[in-house]
Amino acid sequence: MRPVIFLYVLAFYILLQFSWWAYLLIDLNNEVFEHRIENVALTAVSEEAKQAETILLEKKIRQRHLMVIGEGAVFLILLAWGAAISIRSFNKEVELARQQKNFLLSITHEFKSPLASIKLYLETILKHKLEKEKETAFINSAIRDAERLDNLVENTLLANLMDHQGYKFAKEEINFSAFVRLISQKLQTIPNQAKLICHIEDNLFIIGDKNALSMMVFNLVENARKYSTPDSIVELRLEDRKNSVELCVMDNGIGIPDNEKQKVFHRFYRIGNEEKRKTKGTGLGLFIVNYIVSGHKGTIKAIDNKPKGTIMKVNLPKMQLS
Ligand code: ATP
Ligand code: MG
Repeated sequence: MRPVIFLYVLAFYILLQFSWWAYLLIDLNNEVFEHRIENVALTAVSEEAKQAETILLEKKIRQRHLMVIGEGAVFLILLAWGAAISIRSFNKEVELARQQKNFLLSITHEFKSPLASIKLYLETILKHKLEKEKETAFINSAIRDAERLDNLVENTLLANLMDHQGYKFAKEEINFSAFVRLISQKLQTIPNQAKLICHIEDNLFIIGDKNALSMMVFNLVENARKYSTPDSIVELRLEDRKNSVELCVMDNGIGIPDNEKQKVFHRFYRIGNEEKRKTKGTGLGLFIVNYIVSGHKGTIKAIDNKPKGTIMKVNLPKMQLS
């Protein structure tokens, strides 16, 4: 905060100094003008000559005043512009630092907790003679945690690649209806989470990157479930529109306030403060989703669901079937 205060003080001082010098300059000009008028009165040969000389001097002094005011205005505009740019870039830096701190806090936690539970599962299996059924359940839980870690690493690597414009999207013909149906079937098997209900129109085709698109659907459904209660319902709709296919993931969860609806797509952005937040995450999910959607020349929008919750609406260009 200190540099901004210094900048404000400096700008205020420059402004004050400048006004003072402008005032002095105008005052000095007026003095010179008065002397000249006196001089003209003493030396003029006739009354007409005196009048003509006075008019000329008055014109000159007006021009001088205009010059001082004009240059002053340009200077002030430049000063205000410079200060605005500096403050904006400073605020951006502060915001980025805050997000990176959040990211570090969350990623440490995100890595630690599945690792700790995998360790615990393996130790339990090793130390105790468990029934076959229990052992399988423990192994499955450990696999799920390992998958979570794998997803996290994937997300982080992908976000890094995207950040440096290094990700090239494949351009495959995809039966998007069949593709989304397959992903949602997998997602429906995840236990202890909000129920996923699907309405998928048949035979909708697009051109795109299967890996990226499955990540998009996965992230959207994961969010819808994460930010609502396990006893609620998440709805996934895929519908035909005039020039696009429209994918909506709808939940009845906590919703996204209007002033955060754009920001949630920024890298590392998570609503609220990491120290107080209950849900896990790194703030990379929607950044990746947004990147994937733009990479497919589509659009994404967060809108309010009724009576509460969020709808993430994605429109992707439809493949024209010949
Ligand atoms: P990650 O996806 O990287 O594990 P994350 O879910 O926190 O972490 P994003 O998916 O990018 O990150 O979402 C950013 C933020 O937007 C979330 O932290 C959450 O505050 C808000 N958000 C996203 N989806 C929803 C939703 N369906 N309902 C309410 N809030 C949401
Ligand atoms: Mg997410």
